[in-house]
Amino acid sequence: MLLKSINPNSGEVVREYPEYQWEEIDNIIRSVDASFHSWKKTKLDYRIGKIKALAKLLDIKKEGLSFTISVEMGKPINESRAEIEKCIWVCNYYCDNIEQFLQNQYIKTEATESYVSQQPLGVILAIMPWNFPFWQVFRFAVPALLAGNTAVLKHASNVPGCSLAIENLFLEADFPDDIFRSVLATNTKVERMIANKRIKAITLTGSTKAGQAVAQTAGKYLKKSVLELGGSDPYIILNDANIPEAVDICVKGRLLNTGQSCIGAKRFIITEKVYDEFESLFVEKMMAAKIGDPFDENNQLGPLARGYIREDLLSQVNKSISKGAQLLCGGKFIETPGFFFPATVLSNVLPGQPAYSQELFGPVASLIKAKDENVAIQIANDTTFGLGAAIFTSDIEKAKYIAENEIEAGCCFVNDFVRSDPRLPFGGIKESGYGRELSMYGLQEFVNIKTIYIK
Ligand code: NDP
Repeated sequence: MLLKSINPNSGEVVREYPEYQWEEIDNIIRSVDASFHSWKKTKLDYRIGKIKALAKLLDIKKEGLSFTISVEMGKPINESRAEIEKCIWVCNYYCDNIEQFLQNQYIKTEATESYVSQQPLGVILAIMPWNFPFWQVFRFAVPALLAGNTAVLKHASNVPGCSLAIENLFLEADFPDDIFRSVLATNTKVERMIANKRIKAITLTGSTKAGQAVAQTAGKYLKKSVLELGGSDPYIILNDANIPEAVDICVKGRLLNTGQSCIGAKRFIITEKVYDEFESLFVEKMMAAKIGDPFDENNQLGPLARGYIREDLLSQVNKSISKGAQLLCGGKFIETPGFFFPATVLSNVLPGQPAYSQELFGPVASLIKAKDENVAIQIANDTTFGLGAAIFTSDIEKAKYIAENEIEAGCCFVNDFVRSDPRLPFGGIKESGYGRELSMYGLQEFVNIKTIYIK
């Protein structure tokens, strides 16, 4: 079996990589486990030094790495650069804070001394997606490695070049051998990898379907898992919102990464009074988004990453239209060799349509009219997903109440679009998964929170 790196801008195969055989995969896992036993004993300062070297290297190699991202998955080049910069940020953030995060926590009991010590678990298997092929890996790997774990990456099978480039960075940053290794494999190899006794925990970012498969196997072998899955984030626009400002932010939130983000703005739920104003401005801005070659800095949208993502998206749009949605712009393939799909807006989105209930992984926005604030909240929660959400209003106290108490999601942003930030926990509820990444909470997912009690 060959893993194909296909340039979504042209549809051409850039390179083929043979999938690793079982012997090779088992050897890698064995080596990474062997390295864990020495890595976990290193001083924290030593590990911080390595991550700092990694950050420096990312900065030095930013152009080349951004190129690899854009060639393999079609992201506009300036967004690829921003992705590498975010990886540097996560390295620096954890280097600055890890000592405090890993400190023993003393708790007063009847004991002479009782406290919590955080210890690494061992080899963590990361199953990662193609949409942020560096960021998704770094946000897991940096805290996990600083805590003393080691890692094996099974990246998405359409980004083998990124997978090997990341592995190489760890070597070039002078990490000891086998602290971080990549395995080139398709998803058919995941079950047996999870079953390997040397794998101690699993993290997956990807679709809900992949999450269900991984959770099932992890459950069978009683291994800890963190799942960061799909989303259909609702953006609620209330009567008292600043509409032009809200439109700008909503369009940005919908088009980021050519719409292929789990926390992309997907359903826009607008109260009746401001609906028309929002719709006309929103359509105007979506139509103005330039689409084309990801290496042309003027383009806001590139191609979709995989041919079948585009086919699936078109079928979701067409099914929604056949069930009553109205197409306001876009909605058809752009007839060029790559996997291009234009910025698309659907209105009259109602229950029973894919645009209402499914995740649309591309630049397609669903507009939903709500009678009032309460109905808007009800519609926002009428989804199997629970990743992010946003509210637009000038009443901040009301927004805080709704965000805290009413919205079913792992985060809720007010007057801004949802994004991940190394300083804040990130993750979902419902079918968007479980566990958290980033901040102190992300670090704690892959440590043994160990109680020490001295009589
Ligand atoms: P997948 O969820 O299929 O892929 C993500 C990762 O999971 C890949 O490494 C993939 O490997 C692996 N994987 C897939 N199926 C299984 C399985 N049964 N067991 C174990 N691992 C598995 O994403 P796609 O690329 O197919 O995208 C499809 C949809 O997934 C999108 O439309 C979107 O809804 C969602 N998605 C969500 C992401 C997020 O950020 N939450 C990111 C990417 C996709 P392989 O590549 O070898 O199949």
